[in-house]
Amino acid sequence: MEDVIKSVHGGGGEAMEKLLSRVLSAVELRKVKDGVGLDEFEDSAVIPLEGKNLVFTTDSYTVKPLFFPGGDIGKLSIAGTINDLAVMGAKPVAISTAFIIGEGFEIEKIERIVKSINRISKENSLPVVTGDTKVIDSDIDMLINTTGIGIADRVIRNSGLREGDRIIVSGTVGDHGMAIMSKRKGIEFDTPLESDCAALWKLVEEILDLDVHAMKDPTRGGIANSLNEMADKSGKRIILHEDRIPIREEVKSASEMLGIDPFTVANEGKVLIGVAKEDAEKALQILRKNPLGKQAEIIGSVEKGKGVIMETVIGGKRHLEKPSGDPVPRVC
Ligand code: MG
Repeated sequence: MEDVIKSVHGGGGEAMEKLLSRVLSAVELRKVKDGVGLDEFEDSAVIPLEGKNLVFTTDSYTVKPLFFPGGDIGKLSIAGTINDLAVMGAKPVAISTAFIIGEGFEIEKIERIVKSINRISKENSLPVVTGDTKVIDSDIDMLINTTGIGIADRVIRNSGLREGDRIIVSGTVGDHGMAIMSKRKGIEFDTPLESDCAALWKLVEEILDLDVHAMKDPTRGGIANSLNEMADKSGKRIILHEDRIPIREEVKSASEMLGIDPFTVANEGKVLIGVAKEDAEKALQILRKNPLGKQAEIIGSVEKGKGVIMETVIGGKRHLEKPSGDPVPRVC
């Protein structure tokens, strides 16, 4: 077989991990002294600077369609980067936007996308301080790259789970991936399926005084991917209770119709939190007071061992595996 890139390599799962460890082995300088760098595969890097933690992240957005129920590529590109900072415990300070636009793309659409960027930038008091625009002769429509910086008093890692911790999800799972997929397939429901695309710093900020040990935004590969990553990196096992995982009825129906596991598709406005058992109820109450966390639930706990075990609705147990690639490509 030809040794070329396939869409599975962009899925955020195992195929991508293998590709990155192969090609990135050529990079020799991988972190700033005492910081968090390439090897940690975190949501952001950390650069210690004069007693503060500068948190730094970059991400490219390729969602198709560009305008989807609940958002568009502009909103997604700002919210996604805010969230990668937020899960490290960092307050977003500034962001850049770089556009790569295909020849023939309508300028009116760019105006709509930039208005949307402005809206979410203002809502989060996050200035867009620099950017770049390139036009290429290609059948792509528009891609956006954003880079964000933030400041963290205490850096939170996705590898920090401890035995006894509780796992909280801030709301319903699978909304973004299933909304994109249903839109592409032209499937409609009585209650329209909407992306959960949202910026989470204001939600996360409220629980940072509690004993939070680990956080992750379950984007590509869904909660299946992110929980496995948290378990693996922490060297712990996560036990999940399927009946406690919040999921919209319409997301359930769409995933059955399309044969896609909703636990493996992207969320763009949710956070997974590992918090000390003693603080779990308090965290839940605080999250639920915020509209973005209204449907938060404690979905599992952490123990000695490996992997993610799901206690199913019918009383069985199964391993919740990391998907190999994303079942829904070009979702974020
Ligand atoms: Mg992330």
